[in-house]
Amino acid sequence: MCFRPAAVSVDITCPKCGTKVAMDATECPECGATAEELAAAAPKMPGAPGAPGAPGAPGAPGAPKMPPPPGAPKPPGA
Ligand SMILES: [Zn+2]
Repeated sequence: MCFRPAAVSVDITCPKCGTKVAMDATECPECGATAEELAAAAPKMPGAPGAPGAPGAPGAPGAPKMPPPPGAPKPPGA
């Protein structure tokens, strides 16, 4: 098994100098890049709060209605 606990710390690679910076750092210790600049380079977690809404996956609730399969009984009066 290769799964890691979700609590494992994730480092951000500074977009300016390439230094690995702790995810909760307020600035790059090497070049002084701000937290905003570091956050822009941080990996986006799917489903994380604040993430842009992803389009609904196929088969997800709210998906467009599927046509009935061939051979399905027709409703009376059709
Ligand atoms: Zn840096």
